[in-house]
Amino acid sequence: MNAITNHMPTAELQALDAAHHMHPFTTGDEIAAKGARVITGADGVMLRDSDGNQILDAMAGLWCVNIGYGRHELAEVAARQMRELPYYNTFFMTTHVPAIALSQRLAELAPEGMNHVFFAGSGSEANDTNIRMVRTYWDMKGKPSKKVIISRHNAYHGSSVGSGSLGGMSGMHAQGGMPIPDIHHIGQPNWWAEGGDMTPEDFGLMRAQELEQAINEMGEDRVAAFIAEPVQGAGGVIVPPSTYWPEIQRICDKYEILLIADEVICGFGRTGEWFGSTTMGIRPDIMTIAKGLSSGYQPIGGSIVSDEIATVINSGEFNHGYTYSSHPVASAVALENLRILDEEGIITKVRETTAPYLKSKWEALLDHPLVGEANIVGMMGSIVLTPHKESRAAFKSDVGTVGYICRERCFANNLVMRHVGDRMIISPPLVITEGEIDTLIERAVKSLDECHATLKRDGMM
Ligand code: PMP
Repeated sequence: MNAITNHMPTAELQALDAAHHMHPFTTGDEIAAKGARVITGADGVMLRDSDGNQILDAMAGLWCVNIGYGRHELAEVAARQMRELPYYNTFFMTTHVPAIALSQRLAELAPEGMNHVFFAGSGSEANDTNIRMVRTYWDMKGKPSKKVIISRHNAYHGSSVGSGSLGGMSGMHAQGGMPIPDIHHIGQPNWWAEGGDMTPEDFGLMRAQELEQAINEMGEDRVAAFIAEPVQGAGGVIVPPSTYWPEIQRICDKYEILLIADEVICGFGRTGEWFGSTTMGIRPDIMTIAKGLSSGYQPIGGSIVSDEIATVINSGEFNHGYTYSSHPVASAVALENLRILDEEGIITKVRETTAPYLKSKWEALLDHPLVGEANIVGMMGSIVLTPHKESRAAFKSDVGTVGYICRERCFANNLVMRHVGDRMIISPPLVITEGEIDTLIERAVKSLDECHATLKRDGMM
């Protein structure tokens, strides 16, 4: 058997890939017809492909490479840990130093009163943990009827059966028997698409109050928790109106509903603070973490849990855990990643310098004829593509057709920008410089211009 390497011709790699590798969230036939782009290396914010292109990764992989690519310190820590203790679990009365050190550090970084961590291998697994943990918590508190978890339409919380049920994506629910019982979805605070004639503030309040209505309809004694991202990511980087979170917090407090903040994207500096909950001013009982925890260098996720929940759960046996919960190599790499984020002042720099710079450039895209709204918090942003800004109109083509055209233009211009429907989104590595932000914006404008020309040529607007 011949070794498959970076030096093989792209077409050969693509053919082998299409023949054997099934891709997540991708149509296999499209991969077979067009061939996937083969990424061979990366440094800082730049990816390299097998044809030698230098591509600016404005998505930080899947929102995760917060410290940027190519940090050899993490490779060295991983190699050292693999030599010392490549694997051991923390089931059945054992532990190890990487797990102790990482959980202690996370307790330091987390908001006050959240000093306990249950580890998983990913964000999906961590949200599955959360489903079982909140229901078990209420069982142990003598309130076993509190089972329902309320989430939102168009939310993304993972791809496993549990976390995919928490998510509110209809395309996902249509496949594989989801949602599981006792998950309920309310509306999302997406003012552009759903706010009608309301002001963003009134709309934000109305959407938050759907939580109270749902609790009243089902009965307070049935509702265990509400889960949401501080800022919706995969749903399209939807920044909630300022009225939304204070009202959600009030309702959770009033009815004793646990608040789960899914920080998988927002955590570890993405919004300019360690956690999106701080940026949005909320007090969660559980925070889901993954992605930026290790900057994607190792697969690791977890649940940071309040002292109250941990005390209750720890008083019995929680029959739950994964082979790779608190994996020593992943934990050691995550700890090194947190050291770099902290000691290099990366999050402070985002908050004080680069995020305000990006915001000014991003919001200037509103001058483009295709762009109707620009949202941005820290290093996560979206623009909405529209044929008519004043009426907030949608394109006549199927949702996502125009977004796809724009994404393909970005790709051709060596910029990774993702589309969610007809919204274009970014989430670059936190280490992006002002010069690289200029390049990102130049490539985005060129791609928007080309997309605009295509739409006009084809009579799509
Ligand atoms: N929650 C959120 C908010 C996410 O964005 C994601 C991944 N995009 C997940 C959970 C699931 O994480 P993972 O892919 O690591 O399972």
